[in-house]
Amino acid sequence: MNQNIEKKRILTGMRPTGALHLGHYVGALENWVNLQDQYDSYFLIADYQALGDYAEDVGRIRDSVVQVVIDWLSVGLDPKKATFVVQSYVPEYAELTMLLDMITPLGLIRGNPTLKDEMARQNDVSMGFFNYPVSQAADILINKAHLVPVGNDQLPHIELTREIARKFNRLYGQTFPIPDALVGRVPRLIGIDGQAKMSKSLGNCIYLSDSSETVKSKVERMYTDPTRIRISDPGHIEGNVVFTYLDAFHNDRGELNDLKQRYMSGKVGDVKVKSILTKLINDTLEPVRERRNYYEAHTEEIREAIVEGTKKAKLIAETTVSEVRGAMNILDYEDLNNIRKAMGSK
Ligand code: ATP
Ligand code: MG
Repeated sequence: MNQNIEKKRILTGMRPTGALHLGHYVGALENWVNLQDQYDSYFLIADYQALGDYAEDVGRIRDSVVQVVIDWLSVGLDPKKATFVVQSYVPEYAELTMLLDMITPLGLIRGNPTLKDEMARQNDVSMGFFNYPVSQAADILINKAHLVPVGNDQLPHIELTREIARKFNRLYGQTFPIPDALVGRVPRLIGIDGQAKMSKSLGNCIYLSDSSETVKSKVERMYTDPTRIRISDPGHIEGNVVFTYLDAFHNDRGELNDLKQRYMSGKVGDVKVKSILTKLINDTLEPVRERRNYYEAHTEEIREAIVEGTKKAKLIAETTVSEVRGAMNILDYEDLNNIRKAMGSK
């Protein structure tokens, strides 16, 4: 019997807008790698959604699709366990977005705090961008996902998805499960420059594809404690970029607390704590680099992951959309045939 029938389903994804970084890793990918063993997992490469921001640079999206898949494979997402889906190969995502738009109150989109925030940072946005929370709801609902692993900034979108699903079920009959959000271990990794978020548009990233030398030089450039001039001066942990990263990458809490104590009492210097951090990050990235080398020598496996995954997801999407059209009682070809017969035409 197919194991997947009993497993609960998860749907999550990323926009293909460039190479992935440590923020994606600790905020999402690390968690996904564990989840793929327990759940029937669908990982979406949301290139339709990326168009909302980059419609004038489609080349960037095209190039990033494969880049993101290579990053995913490199962190250990496994197409034998999970399904990779390229959104634009499955136009049903667009159809369901449009149908869900019809029952989504505008006020819910206008009031969405994450969207408001993002719109406040841009001069003007496209309709597609404005509508992306509904498109995410469609991504989740088309797959009938039970669980959605996301960063905490995405929680309002999951709340919206739940509202849309409840409303659909109420209006047209039970169709969608009501999905739950699942937030990762590090909800938001700051940038190497100390800004609130590591983000490629801010240019403050350590990329999963960075070499060990690049990691070393990026960590060397991180700010520590500006009030500290000599090693023997007491150091501050609060607001110290290196220690914020140590919190995310050190998995021996006892050892880390000991290091903090020694730093605060002026017994250990910046050079030492930075070398510890460099090693921890490189230890994390070393297996990622090895897998990347493997896949770059086996590009047919990259292609297969995309093609086979997307084919499987398309069948699910077709089934859900036809169920949705049926539930909504939208006129279909069969109805047209019946009308023709009723009118007595040959
Ligand atoms: P960037 O800002 O670098 O362009 P992004 O935020 O556009 O990245 P998305 O594809 O929107 O990337 O997000 C993919 C996932 O990665 C989301 O779940 C998001 O919360 C998570 N993520 C992205 N950056 C970080 C970060 N700095 N810390 C934690 N999680 C992050
Ligand atoms: Mg972004």
